[in-house]
Amino acid sequence: MTDRYAVVGNPVAHSLSPRIHTAFALETSQAIEYTRMLAPLDAFKPALLKFRDDGGRGVNVTLPFKYQAWQFVDAHARGALEASAVNTIHFHDGKSTGYNTDGVGLVTDLQKNLDFAIYGKRVLVMGAGGASYGVMYPLLTARPQTLVVANRTFEKAQGLVRHFERYKDLAREGISARRYGELAGTEFDLVINATSAGLTDQMPSLPDNIFARDALAYDMVYGKETPFMRFSAAHRIRTTDGLGMLVEQAAESFWLWRAVRPQTAPVIAALRSHA
Ligand code: NAP
Repeated sequence: MTDRYAVVGNPVAHSLSPRIHTAFALETSQAIEYTRMLAPLDAFKPALLKFRDDGGRGVNVTLPFKYQAWQFVDAHARGALEASAVNTIHFHDGKSTGYNTDGVGLVTDLQKNLDFAIYGKRVLVMGAGGASYGVMYPLLTARPQTLVVANRTFEKAQGLVRHFERYKDLAREGISARRYGELAGTEFDLVINATSAGLTDQMPSLPDNIFARDALAYDMVYGKETPFMRFSAAHRIRTTDGLGMLVEQAAESFWLWRAVRPQTAPVIAALRSHA
């Protein structure tokens, strides 16, 4: 019988996950079916239980359910526990295990696809929402020199830094929270936009000299050019969107479910050429 998987969210019609996983399945000769599942905002858990009881083997979880998924699962894998967010669930032996593959996806895209070594680098993460929580631990395990979190609502950046306080020694000079207005005079080798500002054609207010020489600007948004991408390109900084992260986090989910690692480069290229 074909194993069934789905991406669950609200809204979910825009999700590229079915295309990505179907391409992975074709390439690796895995017999799976992968669909979209729109869960009512107040009924995530019943929707998930029904999918499982109907024989579903696993789901990807997208907005706004990643925290509810974290609460739902019987066990958390490393990374998911720290993130307080689950984006991948595996149903097995009557139990469910929750993973967070967003951070692995980002780090893999940076280090493998973009050939950017995080080790020893000064990293700025903008935003303190679910995406930032998901990527903090994997970023720290790549051993940056320093990791700074800036957010419009400063208290949320402070809360995020407190949450990861026990891992601060993974970064040589630790982790800290800043207001955007306090960034002037500090340069970063890697600036990650983990805000949703770009979706409404906005960007956090950054000082002009934020980028170190040879810096990389990474916007997690994909499918559109954001003001942050334009800002970094105008400063002649290498700039990328979050499509590679999306495909790499999907590949990690596929690996967790199927124990087969799909090739990601052809899928990224295909999605870019059909953008
Ligand atoms: P979220 O939990 O809603 O958090 C949104 C964050 O953006 C908050 O920190 C918020 O600041 C900030 N923000 C929103 N508008 C802003 C503005 N105009 N100026 C400054 N800051 C602003 O969302 P999320 O789940 O973290 O997702 C963030 C982004 O990452 C989304 O665009 C999402 O699509 C993307 N993402 C991409 C991938 C991928 O695979 N490429 C994976 C996950 C997420 P406040 O706290 O002040 O409100």
